[in-house]
Amino acid sequence: MRILIKDASLVLEDRVERGDLLTDGRKIVQVGGTIDAPCDRVVDAAGCYVFPGFIDTHTHFDLEVGSTVTADDFVTGTKAALVGGTTTVLDFATQERGMTLMEAFRKWENKAKNSSCNYGFHMAMSEWNEARIAELPLMIENGVTSFKMYMVYDNMRLSDGVMYEAIKHLVREDCIIGIHCENDDILKARVKELKAEGKISPRYHAVSRPNLVEADGVGRLMDAACLAGGPAWVVHLSTKEGLAIARRARERGQEVYLETCPQYLVLEESMYDAPDGAKFVMSPPLRSVEDQEALLNALSSGDIDWIGTDHCSFTMAQKAAGKDDFSQTPNGGAGVQNRAEIVYTRAVKGGYIDVVQMGQLLSTRAAKLFGMYPRKGTLQAGSDADIVIFDPDNAHTIHAATNLHNCDNSPYEGYEAAGKTRDVILNGELVVENGALLVSGKGEYVHRDRCGRYRK
Ligand SMILES: [Zn+2]
Repeated sequence: MRILIKDASLVLEDRVERGDLLTDGRKIVQVGGTIDAPCDRVVDAAGCYVFPGFIDTHTHFDLEVGSTVTADDFVTGTKAALVGGTTTVLDFATQERGMTLMEAFRKWENKAKNSSCNYGFHMAMSEWNEARIAELPLMIENGVTSFKMYMVYDNMRLSDGVMYEAIKHLVREDCIIGIHCENDDILKARVKELKAEGKISPRYHAVSRPNLVEADGVGRLMDAACLAGGPAWVVHLSTKEGLAIARRARERGQEVYLETCPQYLVLEESMYDAPDGAKFVMSPPLRSVEDQEALLNALSSGDIDWIGTDHCSFTMAQKAAGKDDFSQTPNGGAGVQNRAEIVYTRAVKGGYIDVVQMGQLLSTRAAKLFGMYPRKGTLQAGSDADIVIFDPDNAHTIHAATNLHNCDNSPYEGYEAAGKTRDVILNGELVVENGALLVSGKGEYVHRDRCGRYRK
């Protein structure tokens, strides 16, 4: 199959160029200029931006959380991802205590086998001991070169000492570990306090974990990474205070990678007071307009590296578990389909970044750090034919009901998006056309190389 994309605005790594692009089989073979080659299919992209397929660095599909499981599994989650322009997701495979890393990997491999977009795994670890350390080479052999640890959640939480050891160990392998940064002891004390005062509604979820709860975690991560001599990666950064601490770490010479999420750019804490406020219960919680502004400016300055969704969806019936106690609400929201259109609307149309930066934030930098570049994350001859054709003028309103996710709510319900993913090419095949999913179940596992530490 040869697909010729005509008259596009090609979003390259350092500029936008008007021209054509040709794919052959699973690869991009020619980029730029006027191409008149024999092909099976011509796609007119006049008026549209053509990006390298977007990479979502942060999803949770088919994840058991307490006594419930996320509304989206890999079947539904990856369909939603794909129509939104995401051609690769990096999901968090999770090693529960008592499980080997290999068992967790096999379990996730099995969950993901009917995916509609490509997928790779980070490995979230709940233990760090001789047995788990001995398995790390096997993970790298299997294409898992990024890991995660949590400062929170009783079933996952590890100590700062473990975080230090893990960073020190993994840097020698050019692997990286992302940290969920929050102060668990303080947030638990605050939850207890609030509940004793009868403050049980969703808004108190945010009150229980204020900005300093995150900033403390970011600070401890920066210091641990500094002492360990390895890179620090903050997942889902949400606060101006955390951002300031990460910047200071960079100023003292540290290698720091920062991820934020669309929800921290467009949603804010007053939304917890809505009748369906429980749908915004996620950790970190929604913040203030000042935090949004700080994060948007950090996208602009290049201080934030990439944007993942932290898609972790629950139905309103599942969310109702917290109706008499916010702390019992399953944490997370649906967002995997809407990332590109929200970032385009809020950050590009809002004047913070240009489309070249958008390509970096949604694809290129993640491909580099997570060992997929230049196979993915770039429009170059020889790269994989994972391509997004994005229409900047397709204004529309986001509704849970028309999203392909398997969830009856969206934190972005009613959001007015300025543009939309029109067509998607996955592994050389046109799989989304005019916003409609044509082909499903063709996602493949992405075996990743060691990390491309571009801030080293
Ligand atoms: Zn997450």
